[in-house]
This record gives sequence, C-alpha cells and structure tokens, in this order.
Amino acid sequence: MDLLDKFDPLIAERARMGDSQPDPLNIVMDEMLSATEAMIGGRKIILAGTNNYMGMTFDPDAIEAAKDALDAFGTGTTGSRILNGTYQGHKALEQALMDFYGMDHAMVFTTGYQANLGMISTLAGRGDYVIIDADSHASIYDACAMGNADVLRFRHNSVEDLEKRLKRLPAESAKLVVLEGIYSMLGDRAPLRELIAVAKAAGAQVLVDEAHSMGFCGETGRGVAQELGVEDQVDFIVGTFSKSVGTVGGFCLSNHPKFEVLRFACRPYMFTASLPPSVVASAISSIRSLKNAHNKRAHLWGNVERLHGGLKKLGFNLGTESVESPIVAVCLETQDQLFGMCRALLLEGVYVNVARPPATPTGLYLLRCSLGAGHSADQVDRILEAFKAAAHTLQLPLNEKLRAAS
Ligand code: PMP
Repeated sequence: MDLLDKFDPLIAERARMGDSQPDPLNIVMDEMLSATEAMIGGRKIILAGTNNYMGMTFDPDAIEAAKDALDAFGTGTTGSRILNGTYQGHKALEQALMDFYGMDHAMVFTTGYQANLGMISTLAGRGDYVIIDADSHASIYDACAMGNADVLRFRHNSVEDLEKRLKRLPAESAKLVVLEGIYSMLGDRAPLRELIAVAKAAGAQVLVDEAHSMGFCGETGRGVAQELGVEDQVDFIVGTFSKSVGTVGGFCLSNHPKFEVLRFACRPYMFTASLPPSVVASAISSIRSLKNAHNKRAHLWGNVERLHGGLKKLGFNLGTESVESPIVAVCLETQDQLFGMCRALLLEGVYVNVARPPATPTGLYLLRCSLGAGHSADQVDRILEAFKAAAHTLQLPLNEKLRAAS
C-alpha cells in the first residue's frame, strides 16, 4: 500500500476537471498589470475574485517602503520572533497596529492562518471550551483540532443556538467564543452585538476575526466590531495583512494585561520564521494609510452596490439579499454550472473564485466575486456584461422573479 493511494479519487476528479480549459483550479497570473488586472493565458483579465479590497498591492508608498527595507535589512530574518527574528520593523508594525486599533498589545504572526491557529489553540487548553460558528474559516477549525479544549459548534450566526450551547457548559469553566466579522464565502455579516452579549452573559471571552472587514468597515476601517460599537466587548481581534493590507502576515490584538506571555506559549508564533523586513515595511505603510482612506472606502461600497444590484437585475441568486460586504457570491446548483461559468467568464475577460463543497456552507456551489477600491465603475460594468454573456453561453436558468423585482 502506498500512502498516496488514498488520494486516487481526488486525482481522478482533478483530471476530469482539467479536461476543459481553462482549468479554474489551475489559473496562473502571468503578469500583474495593476491591483485589478492581470495577464492570464495571453488575455487581459479583470480580477473580480481577489481579497485586494483596498487595492493596496500596487500602492506606491508601500512599494517604496518595501524596497528600502530590502536594501537596508535584506531578504529575510531566518529566525523566530523569540530568537533572532524580531527586527525593529516588527516592533514598529506591532505599534502601527496598536495605534490603528487603539489597543494595548499586538502580536504579529507570519500568516493570518497561523494567528488563528496559534491564538485559539493556546488560549483554550485542556478543560476549557471553544465555541465556534459552523461556517468558521478553516484556520479556526484547524486551531480547534490542534488544541486540547472541548469544541462546540453553533448554527451559523444564530444567537439563540449560541446561547443554548453556552448554557449547557459549567459556569466556572473558561470559554472562548470565536466569531468572524464577515464570513468569507457568502460575504454575510455576523450580528456581533447580539452574539457578544450572549457570550459575555455566559462569562465567555470573545475573539473576533476581522480578516474580511478590516480596511472598509467602521469609521476608521477597524472592522465590523468598530462599526457596531462593540469593540470594548471584544477580548481578542485577529486579522491578516493578506487582504486589505495588500501583503502577507497575521496579527492579534488585545487589552488583556497578561497578553504578552503568549509570545512564550504560542507555538505557531514561536516555531516559524518571522515575516521578511520588506513585507513588514509595506504592511506598516498600508496600515497607516488605511485609517484615513475614507474616499477609497466610499468608492469600494459604491462598486459593490453596482455589482450586487446589476447581478440581481440579471437574475442571479446571490448569497446575501442586500450588500453586506465586498464579497458578492453567485449561488449555482451544480459543479458543472460552476466550472462552466468560471471558464466562460474567463473567456469574457473576467476572473472570479470558484468555491464548492466541502469548503462552502450548506453544500453551495459559489462563484465568489469580490471587488476592491481599485476597481473603476467601468470595470464593474464590464464584469456585469461578462456575467450576462457567460450565462447566455451556458443557457443558465436565471431567476425571473429577481429580474422583475429589480
Ligand atoms: N481568517 C479568515 C476568515 C480568512 O478568510 C483567512 C484567509 N482566507 C484567514 C483567516 C487566513 O489569512 P491568511 O491569508 O493571512 O493566512
């Protein structure tokens, strides 16, 4: 028996999918033309499926800061944050985060995935409880698998179900409720105020992952907790630099007086090399500019309204009734429709993400579109034209009721 034999069904499935080109799961960006356009397979393509929400990947200040840091500090740190991998830039980045969020402590991780993995598995140990939303990101599920706490799941965004589950737990036990500001597949928001109220009433501590809300939710872009005015109720904020910040890395912030000890207990922080100085420098530059990016935020929301309204008018079933985030998910019924639409859209000059079970909630096949502040209104119109043409090519059944109502 070969260890890889168990993957034969997956190998066969991948082979089947790749039969028709372009293969949605094997897209190569040959050249990046801007934050919103790339050359793919010899074609100029509008990117409507990235997490580049604030269009920061080509920000001139962030690029210059990265180049300067590369010259001054070299290509990498070759070490852990707790040994030789903390440069002055990492401390400055943690300070920039504390300034941005107005919180007392910040820890920078090498990815957002590791931030969740590390924080959740370290905070909740044997005898403690972690309570997570059923639609949580894979990094939250993996954190639960890695840690020693007992794990409970509540129905997606259900305040009632969370309350019911919390009531069954011993009053004196330590509990961590893990929430996300915006959920990454359907782009829907959490009712944070109500969920947090229930968590606090049960004596739980609360961690909110703002990966998909930093930059454009809330007055200064801190996320959904800021927008809803509940930041003072959140014990730990987790986030990433791989979306609105436009680079890579993760972080956790807290006002907890004992927070700093986690640097010496959190294995995904300790046992990996720290971020390269160039990445750190561009993250600092981007975070500082996000605070005052009011015009960009307004432009981004305008783009999303245009796309959401336009797709509804065409008769597509969308993941959310109204605009909740820059993520606009088009719900399809089969894998053939999903891959067919993705291919047809590419031929029309538009890239979107494909998402399917088991990665999606309730077994949905989703064309996950997401826009950024970098898109122009004209690009959004071209995306809509592409959807119309692709649906026509595939003879996709569209929702007449939606079309009529719009
Ligand atoms: N949390 C959520 C909700 C995410 O969607 C993601 C990435 N898609 C992460 C964490 C991990 O972020 P990173 O890309 O920095 O590993």
